[in-house]
Amino acid sequence: MNVHEYQAKELLKEHGIAIPAGHAALTVEEAVEGAKKLPGPLYVVKAQIHAGGRGKGKFKELPEDAKGGVRLAFSLDEVESHAKEMLGNTLVTIQTGDAGKQVNRLYVTDGVDIESEYYLAMLVDRATGRVAMVASTEGGMDIEDVAHETPEKITTITIDPAQGFMPHHARSVAFALGLSGDLNKQCQKLAKQLYDAFTASDCDMLEINPLVETKPDADGNASLLVLDTKMSFDSNALYRHPAIEAMRDETEEDPAEVEASEYDLAYIKLDGNIGCMVNGAGLAMATMDIIKLNGAFPANFLDVGGGATTEKVTAAFKIILKDPAVEGILVNIFGGIMKCDIIANGVVQAAKDVNLQVPLVVRLEGTNVEAGKEILANSGLAIVPADDLGDAARKIVAEVKKAA
Ligand code: ADP
Ligand code: MG
Repeated sequence: MNVHEYQAKELLKEHGIAIPAGHAALTVEEAVEGAKKLPGPLYVVKAQIHAGGRGKGKFKELPEDAKGGVRLAFSLDEVESHAKEMLGNTLVTIQTGDAGKQVNRLYVTDGVDIESEYYLAMLVDRATGRVAMVASTEGGMDIEDVAHETPEKITTITIDPAQGFMPHHARSVAFALGLSGDLNKQCQKLAKQLYDAFTASDCDMLEINPLVETKPDADGNASLLVLDTKMSFDSNALYRHPAIEAMRDETEEDPAEVEASEYDLAYIKLDGNIGCMVNGAGLAMATMDIIKLNGAFPANFLDVGGGATTEKVTAAFKIILKDPAVEGILVNIFGGIMKCDIIANGVVQAAKDVNLQVPLVVRLEGTNVEAGKEILANSGLAIVPADDLGDAARKIVAEVKKAA
């Protein structure tokens, strides 16, 4: 699950991390009120969407030369005019895809006098089973280019979670960012705080870009500040963090995935044309693999779970069919706890309810399989039965080709 920048910053603050003051806003008035609480004279108005690249983003509804989704404002009037232009409009960035994302929330924050911008991120590295901390001196809006063109400017430090974050990790991070003196110390402290925030909230990913060094103040002191952050969390661990779960913004998520989660279905939209309904995550993965082996692509991952009811199967069917790319459906059920006749009833009911127009191949195996097959055969619907997984995949691919 992802959260907005302002929410992630609230979480980091709880770990003692220095964040510039700021206020979230849902309306133009709230944006101006938020700015009034800040010292000024420089404010930054930031679009809150679950995607990066906002600074260089473009609003669909605004002229080509209009400013992007992160804007400096030098007065309250300017905060107001930026908020008016941004709220309700669609921001397209390199991370949103062409459709862009509608801006429904803003964050108004203190403007910071920046000396330099760094990059610091943490993620779960599945290959090593460790936490990878990624640091670069080349922070800011072009980090993707840095990764492609000068990967040597990016340093990765891995932390064994069993051992935990050690002082040498902190020193390595500060060294990778080329910091010395007091800034080096600040960085070491920050790296530890970030690691603690990361593990304490079961993060998948925590990215600070940019982490900035401020211009020195009158006494010559500079500090490190988190100017932008992205955090995502392991959904399976959310039950341990109700406060984080409450930050979920469903308007940012794929509507089909939101609907699926209401029915407790594990659904993930993919790019292919063959809808899949399977029970069990492992079987669902195998089903997707075998579809690909037969030269087609799955339109989704969908695990209806072990104890699905007719209602759940119907809901699953409807969700699959909402995707206009779906040209055929493969149902692959192993009836263990779930009985094949229940599934068969659900499939027939759903196919009738949605007035199914695309080919449907069903493979059933396990408890009450004969009864299930009979229900399908007597349904009066053009359901193609399959004997095993390979047969099912071949049949759905052939049916879709035939229908095209
Ligand atoms: P995104 O990564 O989505 O483009 P950022 O929050 O990183 O959004 O903002 C883009 C750029 O805007 C930053 O790299 C930084 O240069 C500038 N910026 C962001 N927040 C502030 C701020 N509070 N004060 C001054 N400049 C800022
Ligand atoms: Mg950024």
